[in-house]
Amino acid sequence: MSDLSIDAAFDDHEVVELVHDPQTGLRAIIAVHCTAPGPAMGGIRRMDYRSVEDALIDVLRLSRAMTAKNVMAGLPLGGGKTVMIDRGDPADPRQLAALGEAIGRLDGRYAGAEDIGTGPADMDVIARHTRHVVGRPASSGGSGDPSPTTARTVLHACLSALRRPREAGALEGIRAGVQGVGKVGAALARGLHALGADVVVADASAGRAERLADELQAAVAAPAALLDMKLDLLAPCAVGGVIDRPVAGRIRARVVCGAANNQLTIPGLADVLHERGVLYVPDYVANCGGIIQVGGEYLGWTPDKVEASVTAAIARCDDLLSDARTSGLPPAAQADLVVARRLEQLLGAAA
Ligand code: NAD
Repeated sequence: MSDLSIDAAFDDHEVVELVHDPQTGLRAIIAVHCTAPGPAMGGIRRMDYRSVEDALIDVLRLSRAMTAKNVMAGLPLGGGKTVMIDRGDPADPRQLAALGEAIGRLDGRYAGAEDIGTGPADMDVIARHTRHVVGRPASSGGSGDPSPTTARTVLHACLSALRRPREAGALEGIRAGVQGVGKVGAALARGLHALGADVVVADASAGRAERLADELQAAVAAPAALLDMKLDLLAPCAVGGVIDRPVAGRIRARVVCGAANNQLTIPGLADVLHERGVLYVPDYVANCGGIIQVGGEYLGWTPDKVEASVTAAIARCDDLLSDARTSGLPPAAQADLVVARRLEQLLGAAA
């Protein structure tokens, strides 16, 4: 049986809305996992899903992960996500408009932002139809692309996991593989290179990988081959689900820390990695920078408040890894405990 199923992905979500607009051809699913901490927030992903079932599993898993990410990031926001089942490129503005109307009908229970397949300009189109969308361009008063902030928290998480200081040359002697060199992965690869790491890049788009490799004088690997390489650090920054049972059983990196959401096909694989001596930094802990930026935009925070919150999240990641070393628990289990305790408090307070 596949690791991924609707039963395994469903976790008492508050709202799962199938959106079909025959006039524009929009097919989307909005999932609100939990609003106990505040309005649910999570990105709007536009992808060529093979089936509606695949899209449903993805949105259920991603919205649940957003609850954990937002709670762990200390944001007064719950978890939600949208997927648009779309093969076209670029996004059809009429479909974005119809999606904006659908988000608006949720009356603030969910707010969206960009994700794979969407960007700040798309958020501007959606914003003409609902105020519950962020990640808009700076020219529209938004906070712009969150990817650099995401890359920043991932880079810090990598340093912390590798137990290296935050200073020039900190990563000399470290071999780091980055799978997926799009907005976040490329910024992370540049950051690792700047600190002295020997970087290997991989991307489904060979041209993109080669261009970045030229810039950084890095090596290029095939995306699947990178997972099997002997590395100090493997940073999955492409899509989720890259670490399934067979991969978890043979990964040779010392540390796995990247930006992609839901890197493990099932949570139990964190234990497999731990038993094999691979330090897996939970994705929702490492990649929280972007949601802090766009969450801050939604909450009307000043840039200083956003910066303080990003700095606090970086420190929390350090503490989490240090607590995990002390307790002997896998960091994923340690993080899940923190989230569960916080949710219990919130739900208790609301009862
Ligand atoms: P992106 O679309 O800019 O880049 C993704 C890259 O991965 C592209 O270059 C693409 O060609 C490549 N890719 C796709 N499938 C691949 C595969 N199977 N193997 C290798 N490469 C593949 O996306 P991004 O904004 O850089 O985000 C990267 C990941 O991080 C996504 O999973 C996203 O959900 C997650 N994430 C992003 C942010 C953010 O702020 N952008 C925040 C949190 C999490």
